[in-house]
Amino acid sequence: MAAPCAEMEPAAPPPSPPPAPTPAAAPGSAGLVCAQGRNLRAVLCQRCGSRVLLPGAATFARRELLLPAMRKKAAAAAAGGGGDVLREHWLVRDMFSFENVGFTRDVGNVKFLVCADCEAGPIGWHCLDDKDSFYVALERVAHE
Ligand SMILES: [Zn+2]
Repeated sequence: MAAPCAEMEPAAPPPSPPPAPTPAAAPGSAGLVCAQGRNLRAVLCQRCGSRVLLPGAATFARRELLLPAMRKKAAAAAAGGGGDVLREHWLVRDMFSFENVGFTRDVGNVKFLVCADCEAGPIGWHCLDDKDSFYVALERVAHE
């Protein structure tokens, strides 16, 4: 009756995210991602053209991140323009991979990335809990 060696339920492996589909299939990133998942083109500030990343400095990543609305006008910022959930990003592992970038003050444990020259932004997201991950939203930058 007693089963000394009860059959071990095989531990269910933790659900792992499915492998990303071919990056080139992503609508917003078409033509921007090379076969290795890196940025084919330089990443520039949309407003002043300042260079943020050189080609190949980042990898394409999908993650849902909430970024405050771009500060286009002081009035819009004063109105508290809310934010956007952005899903397509350039992921940079090393802060020194940036050509130019600025940071906002911490908001909780998050810093937002802005253009180093004109402070347009936020163009990206960085969490202080993960010092080696800097996200730059594709929709918030221009590509050369
Ligand atoms: Zn700029």
